[in-house]
Amino acid sequence: MKKIQMVDLKGQYEGIKKQVNDSLHEVLEDTSFINGPQVHAFQKELEEYLGVKHVIPCANGTDALQIAMMGLGLKPGDEVITADFTFAATAEVIALLQLTPVLVDVDPVTFNIDPEEIKRAITPKTKAIVPVHLFGQPADMDAIMEIAREHDLYVIEDNAQAIGANYHSKEGKTMKVGTIGDVAATSFFPSKNLGCYGDGGAIFTNNDQLAHIIRGVVNHGMYERYHHDVVGVNSRLDSFQAAVLRAKLPNLDKYNEARKEAAAKYNKAFEGEESIETPVRTGDSSTHVYHQYTLKIKNGKRDALAKHLQEKGIPFGIYYPIPLHLQKAYTDERYNEADFSVTNQLVKEVISLPMHTELEDDQIEHISKTIIDFLNN
Ligand SMILES: *Cc1c(COP(=O)(O)O)cnc(C)c1O
Repeated sequence: MKKIQMVDLKGQYEGIKKQVNDSLHEVLEDTSFINGPQVHAFQKELEEYLGVKHVIPCANGTDALQIAMMGLGLKPGDEVITADFTFAATAEVIALLQLTPVLVDVDPVTFNIDPEEIKRAITPKTKAIVPVHLFGQPADMDAIMEIAREHDLYVIEDNAQAIGANYHSKEGKTMKVGTIGDVAATSFFPSKNLGCYGDGGAIFTNNDQLAHIIRGVVNHGMYERYHHDVVGVNSRLDSFQAAVLRAKLPNLDKYNEARKEAAAKYNKAFEGEESIETPVRTGDSSTHVYHQYTLKIKNGKRDALAKHLQEKGIPFGIYYPIPLHLQKAYTDERYNEADFSVTNQLVKEVISLPMHTELEDDQIEHISKTIIDFLNN
């Protein structure tokens, strides 16, 4: 059996070595390291893949979220509602811009922000909602868009974990996640479903005017050379990263398919295990692209299992071990523990297993058998 890794970037590289090397070589030859032709070409190719009017590449996913919020003109004191159960970047940029993060509980089944909790958190100061398509499964965008329309709020999708996933709306429309709200942010961190070989990110929008504003924000607030109309940032995707992403984008659907197949094999292996809850798909036909394959361990043995896996040399992740509302940087006296009962429980139960495009059957069998044997003893 091959050594089990949480993600296998080397194995994936072996399959696309020539494309990646040729693409990187082109950058070396034309030495346009910043804003080179590879960046422009990648932008166009990603726009086409997603079916979105504008992709604006930037330096990383955290910047992408921040820039999206700057582009929307959110002002200090504006409240932005997001999930308590997510990576800190989502709340971090809200706080950094001196907006007020308002964390709300999530759905116990999908791990995604709970639309009912969003409704409860809305105040006259609320300006935006940031749903995170956590672990690769689309959030309930029909409900979220409806709330946003009703209360005149922006929707900023944090699509760092779900690039390539489809969302089927209740009207029967199929859209890529990240193209539904006003604007979306994604990350090309190496371990993401579409990852580069360093840092990278992008903003997506169908709004021409917003795209124009954001293109200035990423570039020091310049719309005309050396005319700085707004306070911007310096956030660029470099040409080497764009070159890697161009080599990988044509494989994204295949990669997501490989993740889905691995997830189906895990699901089958864990069938009938009472202490294990495998990832639940919502009833609709939207896709889950399994950025993470996350189990809930229902018998209180999650930490013991983690220790056991560590001893057995099987990698795992606890995403996320602490609810954001309990993080020192994001506590707020307005929060009430009772309002976070789902997240408070999830952080004790979740464990994410190795998930990537190169997982082999014997590895999945070994991982699942090790877990089942331990939990039944
Ligand atoms: C990875 C991630 C980010 C941040 O992306 P970086 O490229 O690492 O800055 C933001 N939100 C979520 C949900 C993520 O998973």
